[in-house]
Amino acid sequence: MPKGIMKTILDFNSLPESEKSYFLEETWCGKCNEPDLGIVEPELYIENERKYVSGKCTVCGESAISEIIENEIKEE
Ligand SMILES: [Zn+2]
Repeated sequence: MPKGIMKTILDFNSLPESEKSYFLEETWCGKCNEPDLGIVEPELYIENERKYVSGKCTVCGESAISEIIENEIKEE
């Protein structure tokens, strides 16, 4: 890991219910190679000024990380 990475853990339970269920369901597991399998044991944190939710895939138990994009404007 490069130096200078700041990881700040936030309280996942402080999120509104709608956001909690969204982040628990809208996931990507790189091992299963499947979206939306869901995660358990979620952790909310900020790293390099980006916000992430990590947790364990409900299928394989591998950790899955979702970046939270708060700006909904898509420029694709
Ligand atoms: Zn998985």
